[in-house]
Amino acid sequence: MGKSFDIGLERLTGIGVPGDGQPQEGGIKPPLHDAGRPFSDQGKQEADAVGSTFYLETFGCQMNDHDSEKVAGVLLGRGYRQVETPEAAKVILYNTCSIREKAAQKVFSRLGELRPADEQDGKCFNTEDTEKEHRVHRDGRVLEKNHPSLRKIVNAGGGKIIGVLGCVAQQEGEEIFERAPWVSLVCGSASYRKLPQLIAELEAGNRRVTGLDTDTDETFETEITRRDNPWRAYLTIIEGCDKACSYCVVPFTRGPERSRGSASILEEVRQLADAGYSEVQLLGQTVNSYADPSARNMRFSELLAAVAEVGGIRRVRFTTSHPRDFGKDIVEAIEAHPTICDNVHLPVQSGSTAVLRAMARTYSREEYLEKIALMKAARRPISITTDMIVGFPGETEKDFEETLTLLDEVQYDSVFAFKYSPRPNTPSLKMADAIPEEEKGRRLGILMDRQREIQRVRNEKLVGETFEVLVDGKSRRENQWSGHTSSNRVMNFTSPEQELLGDYVQVKVSSAMPNSLVGEMVGR
Ligand code: SAM
Ligand code: SF4
Repeated sequence: MGKSFDIGLERLTGIGVPGDGQPQEGGIKPPLHDAGRPFSDQGKQEADAVGSTFYLETFGCQMNDHDSEKVAGVLLGRGYRQVETPEAAKVILYNTCSIREKAAQKVFSRLGELRPADEQDGKCFNTEDTEKEHRVHRDGRVLEKNHPSLRKIVNAGGGKIIGVLGCVAQQEGEEIFERAPWVSLVCGSASYRKLPQLIAELEAGNRRVTGLDTDTDETFETEITRRDNPWRAYLTIIEGCDKACSYCVVPFTRGPERSRGSASILEEVRQLADAGYSEVQLLGQTVNSYADPSARNMRFSELLAAVAEVGGIRRVRFTTSHPRDFGKDIVEAIEAHPTICDNVHLPVQSGSTAVLRAMARTYSREEYLEKIALMKAARRPISITTDMIVGFPGETEKDFEETLTLLDEVQYDSVFAFKYSPRPNTPSLKMADAIPEEEKGRRLGILMDRQREIQRVRNEKLVGETFEVLVDGKSRRENQWSGHTSSNRVMNFTSPEQELLGDYVQVKVSSAMPNSLVGEMVGR
């Protein structure tokens, strides 16, 4: 399946936030795997007969990855078959991200590749290679050399349906039809429940359909979810966000916070365990703000514990936690249940209380450090990771220095650091004292160097220790495997065993790098 990730930003990836697309040296992509009910034979025959195929490319975070798994499930349920390339597909879908400008731009450049001939800026001339062509402007300039001739397929009477899903869809709305008139479906994530109906309308011959409401209290649940990873299953427990951080588009693009009922979550976890998944990851933009809408009224920490007790589940992860709603009860749940992984991703964004206030993050540096202290006092070590933004409007040299001292104080195991990107509709767009791009880059570089050194020292202390690893990658090199520890560290290791993928094994660390550990399998 086509898949790409927002790597326009610098990340320190000692510990991967799952699904973030970090390359694992020598790793392999797990086979595609269908969970849930398979679609009917009749549906499959129809799909083969009418060539109902879809291509789905995902940009952005794990929430988008998982939304795509559900969107794929909806299409599979209607008898569609997933294909690897847009050329081979009847329906081409991009599930988009607009969290930073670069991510949003990428989508429009993809859409540009699908531009039909009569929409081109200039004529296209075939090159000697009939599969490629030059795109030439009216004034004779060659705009693009040898680009794959997708537009031929778009025009080839195949009646392709091109759709934009996700955050860019929600943000740009019907303007996408103006910018790319060859698009026929625009649907934001808060309207995914309508997707089957929208697809039916397109199948019935409608030229353009949209799902752009954010005013909803519904979550997106499907009968079929086509999961990409055979061992780790994502599960969205809360959608949308009510937090309104001043730099962030999510509240506009994903709608208000709405939680899924605990009984339905637990039932799905049981089904996943029966289907052979051993790791589940509970997802939400602010996962720990979960508010059970059912009469059981489970707190997030109670839900975590209940998921951890489902037979067959060996690892439970959750991301992303908001500091405001992070309390002792979550740390106690981790302490009480070894199946809950010892890793908490707790984005701080800045070490300066003044900047945090301007960001409307609802906590001060000191309050954030109180949450960190809860984790540091836990009975088993908890690895802590975070997100940071540098170059927020008005961030002084002194504010930035406070972010650096926070790194020293917390000793994170990994940091995802981003240059501030001004986004449409957000309050920070109008804030004074913008920081020049070059200065943002300089601060990002300093932060990354400082954190890399912290990770190097922390990881070196682990040499000689033994960790349980879920094996999820096999190298082309003989006897080389990779996997993740409970703390979500990447472990590359050697073992002469023939088959280990999906197994839990014991690995002793022999050396360490800032972003990964190296070891040798010592047992099961
Ligand atoms: N809900 C999570 C939280 O509150 O921490 C984060 C979700 S957001 C999809 C992931 C990260 O993107 C944020 O933690 C923040 O660091 C970064 N981010 C969001 N908006 C940004 C912007 N306008 N510019 C740069 N980074 C941004
Ligand atoms: Fe965006 Fe803030 Fe909500 Fe996170 S908590 S998704 S950063 S508004």
